[in-house]
Amino acid sequence: MVINRAKKLILLSHCLLNVNAKVNGLARYKGAVAELISFLVDEGFGIIQLPCPEMGYWGIRRWGQVREQMNTPFFVRHCRQIFTPVLEQIIDYHRNGYRLAAIIGVDGSPSCGVSHTCSSASWGGELDNWQTTAEIMGELQMINAPGVFMEVISQALGENGIEIPMLAVDEAAPADSIADIKKTLKGELQQ
Ligand code: SF4
Repeated sequence: MVINRAKKLILLSHCLLNVNAKVNGLARYKGAVAELISFLVDEGFGIIQLPCPEMGYWGIRRWGQVREQMNTPFFVRHCRQIFTPVLEQIIDYHRNGYRLAAIIGVDGSPSCGVSHTCSSASWGGELDNWQTTAEIMGELQMINAPGVFMEVISQALGENGIEIPMLAVDEAAPADSIADIKKTLKGELQQ
């Protein structure tokens, strides 16, 4: 019998493999991020697709929102619930010598951002509280903080004494961030 599994895994934000889960109108690729996925397959990673926390909470017709609107006890609980089955897989792989090489999130997302996320102190309520769309967009900014789901993941891993590097495809600069991810993972593989 030939045993050739590489015993190394990557966890990906759901929409990196299925763009259809994203808020309508946001999409820089047709289905999956081919350049990243083909790299991972070529390098022998098994891929675990994380659930999309927003799709499972608000569905496909949701509006785009910011971190402050999602950082509620209810959404945090939802994130914990959907991550639990994945966490149990991670614990089991970890105990049995498999390498969890990275979690790849989506920078800019209020849920899956790793190092930055979208923020607004005032978003929420009726749209006619504002005069124009430009006024609404003027109150949107990027801040250096994780999205709610990635924060929950990081806490849950910490509670179990598991460390997994967190990387991200940047919604604003996908090509550069994918090049960085490839470089980081290549470096990891050489260790
Ligand atoms: S970034 Fe996260 S929350 Fe947003 S669509 Fe992708 S998986 Fe869903």
